[in-house]
Amino acid sequence: MAQGLPCSVDSGGRPPETPAPGGTHPPGPPIRSPGRLTLGSVKASPQTQLRLLELADLDAELARLDRRRRGLPEVAELARLEARASELKDALVVTETELGDLTREQSRAERDVDQVRTRIEKDRARLDAGQVSAARELASLQSEIESLHRRQGDLEEVVLELMERRETLDSRHDELTAERDSIGSETAAVAARRDAAVKEIDEQAAKASAQRGDVAAEEPADLLALYDQIRKTKGVGAAMLRAGRCEGCHLSLNAADLNVIRASPADEVVRCEECRRILVRTPESGL
Ligand SMILES: [Zn+2]
Repeated sequence: MAQGLPCSVDSGGRPPETPAPGGTHPPGPPIRSPGRLTLGSVKASPQTQLRLLELADLDAELARLDRRRRGLPEVAELARLEARASELKDALVVTETELGDLTREQSRAERDVDQVRTRIEKDRARLDAGQVSAARELASLQSEIESLHRRQGDLEEVVLELMERRETLDSRHDELTAERDSIGSETAAVAARRDAAVKEIDEQAAKASAQRGDVAAEEPADLLALYDQIRKTKGVGAAMLRAGRCEGCHLSLNAADLNVIRASPADEVVRCEECRRILVRTPESGL
């Protein structure tokens, strides 16, 4: 002890503390300052407070990586491709059902044509064999053959029409199948690009996470708990006080708040009144 020397440097250059009731900071509810600044009950050395900025940077990086992972253009592209693939699948089911119906309709019409043709052949055979001699019967048979020919013509037209519809449906089916196949290979290519991007992001995130773990391991438990509690709602739990401004919410502190911070001991954990983040003091704080 250097007795007798002036004691002006005893406070380490810091301004003298405002005496709290009872002389020291009592544990309990936060003290509302003359400004609006909240001082918490957690105390932490300037060094551990500075490390919170590293933690905040890493948390911001992790959040950025998370946003990048979710915002990958490939993710939106895959959603679009999946939607189209599902439309195509439905359209193919409809087309295949129509094709099935058409096939049944076509074979029914062809059967009808065959029946009429057989009947005509039979009637002709009867005529040719001279089995019918009565004039009335002959006339009736000839008229039947004529009407069967008309019926045959009508049915053949139906068959033709069905064949045309089938051609249209077949080419639609071919188009849908071709698009489905090309969507399938496009999807595989985009998914591969997405997987590669996600892998890269995951690697960066794993690195940042590991670094975060190392930094967090060095922090005192109560300070870390406070930081993490703020982080849950704010993304990052601490911000630098730079030139009188909170770097978290970018608001400048008023003179009264700055005075309170100036007067606070270095181990005081100061919080921004606007965004509630821990305000970390550095030589750039403008105090
Ligand atoms: Zn703030």
